[in-house]
Amino acid sequence: MEETGAAPSPPGSGESGFPVYHAARCGGLAELDAELVRCRACPRLVEWREETAAHPRAAFRDQEYWARPVPGFGPPDAALALVGLAPAAHGGNRTGRMFTGDASGDFLFAALHAVGLASQPTATHRGDGLELYGVRVTAPVHCAPPENRPTPAERRTCRPWLSAELELLGPSLRAVVVLGAFGWQALLPVLGETGWPLPRPRPAFGHGVLLTLPATGRRQELQVLGSYHPSRRNTFTGRLAFDMLVELLGRAAGLAGLGPSED
Ligand code: SF4
Repeated sequence: MEETGAAPSPPGSGESGFPVYHAARCGGLAELDAELVRCRACPRLVEWREETAAHPRAAFRDQEYWARPVPGFGPPDAALALVGLAPAAHGGNRTGRMFTGDASGDFLFAALHAVGLASQPTATHRGDGLELYGVRVTAPVHCAPPENRPTPAERRTCRPWLSAELELLGPSLRAVVVLGAFGWQALLPVLGETGWPLPRPRPAFGHGVLLTLPATGRRQELQVLGSYHPSRRNTFTGRLAFDMLVELLGRAAGLAGLGPSED
């Protein structure tokens, strides 16, 4: 575990109170990321991330797994956020970086590069030279869950981390791409908590669905765009073709003011 020099949890809160206590106290994304990687609030996910590391896939047997919460990746003044659901057991949980080292990430970063939002089309490990331009990739759940399915309680427990991340990105954030229906369900409550008014009923997820959250006293307008998740199943079956994702990311870049294709 990394030494961060950060404050301990308040007396009596235990591990479960760690996200609530620490996330809102962080003054910047670097501090938030340093606190996040110390989190052990979800016993089932802590066990799973460490169990997976203890039993690596054959192809990764010579690698040391990250086996901790995976922080968001990208600049602290990003105008566009990409939100999945949670890191993959042998992807982000191995490499320590969101969407890095698995088939979904291979597809996603190639598309980001095609749109001009990433410095290279590949993402293999921390320190591989990849840079994102105006984009931060994150998730509502920061530890790899069994079957890629966090429980509702785990989603609620992890919520303060994403809430704080969006709060810190707030001044620059213009648009969010949500990757998949589970991410959509998980993100909307976080946006509501972070100060954006949500419509009722909440709009259903769909590829290309655009939700505009109006500006409030402390929030500027936010465009939320749904995308099919770049999972192996979706990309293998053609449900999400590469050109579809490139087109959607280009549209999102325009909405965020990062590119020429503004709606
Ligand atoms: Fe902490 Fe989130 Fe991981 Fe739960 S999922 S242990 S709240 S970082």
